[in-house]
Amino acid sequence: MVNNQKNCQACGGKVTIEKVNLEEYEEGKLYLMEKVPAYVCQDCGEIWVPEEIMQEFEKMISLAQAKKTNNNRKG
Ligand SMILES: [Zn+2]
Repeated sequence: MVNNQKNCQACGGKVTIEKVNLEEYEEGKLYLMEKVPAYVCQDCGEIWVPEEIMQEFEKMISLAQAKKTNNNRKG
């Protein structure tokens, strides 16, 4: 796994890896993933979440939605 430090894609400033919280609203429900590593720009404050983290987050959301569907079958 390679997570080299990069420069900000918005301003070219220096980014450092920090723990952030991801939030996503799907069908009126809030999904939250806490303390994930992300690149945070020290100049403009922009946050860049690594692709693999985003994929994990979206997988978590679809799993939660699948579970909800199963519960509905039972009534
Ligand atoms: Zn920046």
